[in-house]
Amino acid sequence: MENCALNLNYCAGINCIESFIPKDCRVITIIDANIAERYGKYFPQPQISVVASEENKSLQNVERLSLQLLDMGADRSSFLLAVGGGIISDLTGFIGSVYMRGIKFAYVPTTLLAQADAAIGGKTAVNLGGYKNILGVVNQPAYTLFCPDFLDTLPAKEMLAGTSELLKTFLLNDRENYFNCLGEIRAHGLNARTLWPYIKKCSAIKASIVEQDPYDNGIRKTLNLGHTFAHALEKSTGIHHGEAVSIGIVLAAKLSVKTGLLNHDEAITIESDFRDLGLAVKSPVKISELAEIMCKDKKRSGDSIDFILLERIGKAMIFTIKVKDLEGLINDLS
Ligand code: ADP
Ligand code: ZN
Repeated sequence: MENCALNLNYCAGINCIESFIPKDCRVITIIDANIAERYGKYFPQPQISVVASEENKSLQNVERLSLQLLDMGADRSSFLLAVGGGIISDLTGFIGSVYMRGIKFAYVPTTLLAQADAAIGGKTAVNLGGYKNILGVVNQPAYTLFCPDFLDTLPAKEMLAGTSELLKTFLLNDRENYFNCLGEIRAHGLNARTLWPYIKKCSAIKASIVEQDPYDNGIRKTLNLGHTFAHALEKSTGIHHGEAVSIGIVLAAKLSVKTGLLNHDEAITIESDFRDLGLAVKSPVKISELAEIMCKDKKRSGDSIDFILLERIGKAMIFTIKVKDLEGLINDLS
């Protein structure tokens, strides 16, 4: 298998960020407009500011930003630094992968969701025709640089969204840290200092899974725990990805009980843990509606759908369900 060692760097304070930025090449920062306002001074290199919206994760914007890079004199030896959440890293990774047939890029994730998930693993993408992430490549960044200080200004809703992805990683791989992380949040609140050790553990787990399966053919699929339901929920209601993921995980746990994989008490534990933290646990639409969306999903291949289910808290597996059996299996989940 291709060697794919991911390069994760951790920086405990924002003042140290500069020491992680390459000095031997021309660096251009593509930065979330909100982050530029608050933290722009920590990135003294030339900046292109982008509003983080799904509409801006588009081919038109790839063209616009690439023209800006040309104007700024960016060449094959230039280096793009993406500073922002998942939208900025997906877009910058895509541009970095195609600009002059590919230049180096790195990520500084500023949302919890990106620190727990999006900025690790090399998935780059833009949206097309109203569908999310249709165009993209898997291409690893030169490094991902994690710093907890950004999270101090992250809105509570975004903090909760990222918590779903953080707990997802522990649910599928690390029972002990699932319970430890919950205990720490209960004791000290949902804030950057409480989460920092768990962001480090979660990112290391994700990196190790990606290193085993960079192109998503096997074990990497387990990182999609809750996401089959979540994508259908997002499609039907437009709710935030992180919110859809927490509901999706609870539904996946219930489906795991229904298929005989998971003990009922474990599913109850997950649902009540999530509810106590303030995470969404109930689907705002009927499950039959979600089933219908999953069956029609343009990205689905063949006549079955791979669900990621739990055998216990800390262990996930891939479980394939035939489309024709889907409605019958999930319709009475709530
Ligand atoms: P993700 O895809 O990682 O959830 P987005 O890129 O969609 O995140 O960003 C979500 C929102 O949070 C955007 O409005 C963005 O400008 C804002 N944002 C990102 N990081 C921070 C931060 N550290 N502090 C405040 N707002 C932030
Ligand atoms: Zn996700």
